[in-house]
Amino acid sequence: MLRLGNPDGSYDIIETTPENTQRVLANEPLYAADTDDPNFMAPDEIRALQNGNLRRQLERVKDGSAYYKGLFKREKIDPDKIETVDDLVRLPLTSKADYMSDPEAFRLKLSNPTLYDWLWDVTYTTGTTTGIPTPFYNTILDAYATYRLIFRAIKIGGGLSTTRVVNLFPLGPIPHIGFFRARDIIAMMPYGQGSFACTGMPHPEFKIHRSLDYAVELIEKIEGQALVGIASFIRRVIMKAEQEGRDYSQVHGVELLGEAAPKGMRDDVRRRLENMGADRPFIANSYGFTEMQGAMSECEEFSGCHNPDDGLYFFEVVDEKTLERLPDGEVGLLVITHLNRTGTVLLRYVVGDYAAITHEPCPFCGRTGTRTQITVGSTYATRTSELVNLKGTLINPEILRDEIANTAGIAEYQVVFTKKDPSDPYSPDELVIRVGKLPDRSEKDIEEELQQRILRAVEMRARIEFAELSEIFDPDESLKAVRIVDLRPKE
Ligand SMILES: [Zn+2]
Repeated sequence: MLRLGNPDGSYDIIETTPENTQRVLANEPLYAADTDDPNFMAPDEIRALQNGNLRRQLERVKDGSAYYKGLFKREKIDPDKIETVDDLVRLPLTSKADYMSDPEAFRLKLSNPTLYDWLWDVTYTTGTTTGIPTPFYNTILDAYATYRLIFRAIKIGGGLSTTRVVNLFPLGPIPHIGFFRARDIIAMMPYGQGSFACTGMPHPEFKIHRSLDYAVELIEKIEGQALVGIASFIRRVIMKAEQEGRDYSQVHGVELLGEAAPKGMRDDVRRRLENMGADRPFIANSYGFTEMQGAMSECEEFSGCHNPDDGLYFFEVVDEKTLERLPDGEVGLLVITHLNRTGTVLLRYVVGDYAAITHEPCPFCGRTGTRTQITVGSTYATRTSELVNLKGTLINPEILRDEIANTAGIAEYQVVFTKKDPSDPYSPDELVIRVGKLPDRSEKDIEEELQQRILRAVEMRARIEFAELSEIFDPDESLKAVRIVDLRPKE
């Protein structure tokens, strides 16, 4: 569904088709003026843009990247022979470990920098194995490129010039892309209007952080229309608002980020918003990460996530074992190459998720650029580290998540891998699902349905444990809900 804005600020809800997409874009002067959007180019034009940008990028890398200069020398690779994105297969992949062990080696030190190559800001990747955040440097050029990426992501999501955004990302202790890029969303919205909830872990001295209750109130007070934040936190805000009988009738879009949002979760959020008066809200799940400084977005629920700018990022998928590039539609490791950056630059970088991509025109909006596809249950990507060996069977926790989130009556959950006897490391593995339930369904009903679903999905039984919601996820304590916990002793 698309929203076609009227001059008086109202809008009509119309079906997402290529024709209607063009109507919406023509209706919004800033979108209509964005005439070099690669997502509406012919496939050979996109390739020519990518190849041209790659050549320029390799000149920069040859000049200023300590890591890649070393790699070219070590592997006897002549970067001048890499003329197209197809030739990139000659370059070995760059792993997260390579980047994290020496982030400075990936920061360009150009011999003749221009004003636009000066440092603009630094964000950090979180969730590293060592717990130490890794810096990701943005120059002025990178910041401008990211602004345009975000503008095009808003355009894909159907943002209107009248849309009021509420940034529900926490103001966290580490500058990470959530809060800051959501700030940039407001800057890039046509006639941008927006507010910040500024939730997050309180500081002992500077009392600047606000509560979940403040966020709930803010959305009603400013009549926020688009909510942007981490999926599990947004859902918590919406649950609280529903309990309090708030008027959220003005909400027309929710952008769930930072986590996979299975169908059950989206349906749950939609039902709650509709209970508060919203009219057919778009519950979107974008796919983003620090190393792209933004997100790929949906034009329609489950449409696939569109790369907002194929001129900035080249995506490919490679086989996990052979590391060969895979054809469209096949699931493997997602790999990104930066085509136009002068801060931190990564070539053929393994993002750390399993995914599949396609270059077929989108049946909904008609965009021709790169798009991720639904690969696991009703979600796009799985963290590569998340495949778990349980009772000798390799299982994908994403499938479990999908089944749990699609079970009615579950408000919060956590999947725990443990031992039958926690004091005995050699006792059999046990699968425990901790559930925080809603008042409207009995424990017995939930347990029965969940057992069936788990059995069907992973062919093993689970022990179901009921707990308070805040025991499973407390938004004041952590950024996002920890859905998967492995308590078994490490080998
Ligand atoms: Zn589309």
